[in-house]
Amino acid sequence: MSERYTAPEIIALKRDRKVLNDDQIDWVVDAYTRGLVADEQMSALAMAILLNGMERHEISRWTDAMIRSGERMNWSMLDRPTVDKHSTGGVGDKITLPLVPLVASCGAAVPQLSGRGLGHTGGTLDKLESIPGWRASLSNEEMLKVIQETGGVICAAGTGLAPADKKLYALRDVTATVEAIPLIASSIMSKKIAEGTGSLVLDVKTGSGAFMSDPAKARELATVMVEIGKSAGVNIKALITAMDVPLGLTAGNALEVRESVEVLAGGGPADVVELTVLLAREMLQLAGISGIDPADNLKNGKAMDHWRRMIKAQSGDPDAALPVAKEKLTINAEESGTLTRMDALKVGVAAWRLGAGRSKQGEQLQLGAGIEIHAKPGQSITKGAPIFTLHTDKPELFERAEESLVGAVEYDSNYQRLPLVLEQIG
Ligand code: URA
Repeated sequence: MSERYTAPEIIALKRDRKVLNDDQIDWVVDAYTRGLVADEQMSALAMAILLNGMERHEISRWTDAMIRSGERMNWSMLDRPTVDKHSTGGVGDKITLPLVPLVASCGAAVPQLSGRGLGHTGGTLDKLESIPGWRASLSNEEMLKVIQETGGVICAAGTGLAPADKKLYALRDVTATVEAIPLIASSIMSKKIAEGTGSLVLDVKTGSGAFMSDPAKARELATVMVEIGKSAGVNIKALITAMDVPLGLTAGNALEVRESVEVLAGGGPADVVELTVLLAREMLQLAGISGIDPADNLKNGKAMDHWRRMIKAQSGDPDAALPVAKEKLTINAEESGTLTRMDALKVGVAAWRLGAGRSKQGEQLQLGAGIEIHAKPGQSITKGAPIFTLHTDKPELFERAEESLVGAVEYDSNYQRLPLVLEQIG
């Protein structure tokens, strides 16, 4: 059967700033999934979309075409409402780890399909894989079993879910086309709608460590995603949250698991606890669950109990020792004063260079690598006191990590921290 379009004619339309119609969008997404449109053709189209944008109805149709490229999950057999959260990614953003068992412990079902690290930002699956034995890949039946037994599941999206996005996401990563609002919005929302969650809270990050460092762009991204979710019948809300400073006191896989367990044990850094509880409250409200304060379940051990069950259900050992890097290097304050700035991007890049992130697809991570932060903005510090400890198995990586931390902290400037939540949409 002959095809109704060719890839060059669709690319030329977007190159010339034209609006693609529904049929053209359906064709190009489907033909790319079938391998009929080549990677180099989709790269050219992705770049044309990045440069020339898309109308809202084009973004919705593109999202829909990506959902239709694969299966849609269905949780109607569960006796609890489903709710999920998605973060657009940041430095030290380990919130999913305490949040999923916490919300599950309050009576919701949380089917969380997560990803791996992208660039300087960490990935939930990479973090959890530092727990000995833990498995990210589950069949749909296994996923259902875990969620029925524990209330929550964090795993990789199966190959059948939004396969168009899987191909396109990998292509964008190597063609400098990640930072396009239509492509980010459709990528995230196609997976979340196909995942079948009834309610969704989006944590859209802004600040130096986020993909959308400009708050106006973050707002636009959040608005587009909320519109797509609403028209697909999802109860959805977006929070725009600060990513100018790393979240918590660690960046790096095993280091972040350790910190998450501290939060589940009722301790942990104040900003991680605050954002976890805030997002949990939003999720429960969207799911229609009232009369329970998630902050209580961090203190009374219920969230920890769900965490342990979830980890065991995916073959992990919650009591096993986590990987520890072989080498450490401490970086000390060069002056005395109040710390007024800590650049999330610089810290994220340093953790990445120490081996916590990948520089090419499929690369093995050093699970113990990363950065511990000893002082955060707002704290006073004396010259010579430790600010960062760098962790890696390969001491030759210290130099490049230290380079990326040059200028990462400032003392006594007029810099004002962004509030944790800048805006709510939806
Ligand atoms: N996360 C996604 O799933 N897709 C993007 O494009 C960016 C972040």
